[in-house]
Amino acid sequence: MKLSWKKYDLQLKHVFRIARSEEAIAPVIIVELTQDGITGYGEAAPSPRYHESVNTVIAFLQKVDVEKFADPFSLEEILGYIDGLAGENTSAKCAIDIALHDWIGKKLGVPLYKLWGLEKTKTPMCSFTIGIDTADVVAKKVREAEEYPILKIKVGLDNDKEMIGTIRKITDKVLRVDANEGWKKKELALERIKWLQDQNVEFIEQPMPAAQFDDIKWLRDKVDMPIIADESVIRLSDLPTLAQAYDGVNIKLMKCTGVREALRMIHAARALNMKIMIGCMIESAVAISAAAQLSPLIDYADLDGNVLITNDPFDGVRNIKGKLTLSDKAGIGVTPR
Ligand code: MG
Repeated sequence: MKLSWKKYDLQLKHVFRIARSEEAIAPVIIVELTQDGITGYGEAAPSPRYHESVNTVIAFLQKVDVEKFADPFSLEEILGYIDGLAGENTSAKCAIDIALHDWIGKKLGVPLYKLWGLEKTKTPMCSFTIGIDTADVVAKKVREAEEYPILKIKVGLDNDKEMIGTIRKITDKVLRVDANEGWKKKELALERIKWLQDQNVEFIEQPMPAAQFDDIKWLRDKVDMPIIADESVIRLSDLPTLAQAYDGVNIKLMKCTGVREALRMIHAARALNMKIMIGCMIESAVAISAAAQLSPLIDYADLDGNVLITNDPFDGVRNIKGKLTLSDKAGIGVTPR
C-alpha cells in the first residue's frame, strides 16, 4: 500500500461563526491509499477544539508506515497500529480509516452501506446549518436555505433570541439548536432552553462546556427538550458516562477516528438507549459521503459540511432538498471533479 496526501482549502459561502470561533476557509487534508491499481480516498478535517491542525495531521501521517501491511482488508490490525502511534490525532487517523474502507469497497465493487447490510432509502433527512450572524444575514441565509426542511441554528453568544426570533418571522420549519458550549452558567442555559421549548425546537446540542458535566445533568432534570452531546463525546469509551447526562450523541468521524469506530459507537449508543446523530466539520464530499454510508442506522443527520462550501473537489452523496441520497458507486461513492 502507498499513502499520499495533499492539503486543500475549502472556501465557505459565508463566514462560518459559532460560539467559540469563525472561519472563511477550512483547510483539509485529502489522503490517497493505493494498491493493485485501486485508490481509496480519505480526508482529515482537523479542529483546534480537539488539538489538531493541518500541521499535526501531516506530522502524524509522516509517522505512518502502511507499506508494511500487504492486505488492506486487515482493518483490525492496520487501524490498531494507526491508533497506537499516538494519542488524539483523531482526524488524521480518520483519513486513513476512510481511505481503507473506500479501497475495500472498490476492491469488492460494492458501496459500504451495502457491505454493512443497510438500505440506502433509509437515510435520514439532513439539517442545514445557519451560523451566528446579524439579523439581516441570518434572514438572507434562511431564505437561501428554502429547499432544506430542517435547519440547525448555531447559538451561544448574546444574540440567541434575536437569531431565533428572526428565523421564526420567516419560517416555521423544525429547528435544531446548537450552543457549542456557549452557555457557561447553568441558570442561563436553563432560561434559554425553557424559551426554546416554545419555539418548535427538536433538541438542544451541547448547551454547556463539556467539562461542566454535573451542570448538564442538573439541566437535564429540569427541561423537556432532549439534550445531545457533541463536544462532550469523542470516542466509544465516552458513551457509558455520557448516558447519565445526555439523551443522545453527535458522532463525528473526525472525532472518533473514522467509520470503524463510528459503527461501534452507533451500536453502543443504541444499547444505552441514546439518540444518535452523525455530524461533521466543514468537510469535502469525501468525509461527508463516508459518514452518509452509516446514516441509515441513525436518527438525525447533520452532514451538510460540503453544502456550505463553494469548491468541493469531489462528487459524492447528494443532498436533495435535505434528503441524503446515496449512489450505487463502490466504496464511499466519490469521484474527483
Ligand atoms: Mg455541534
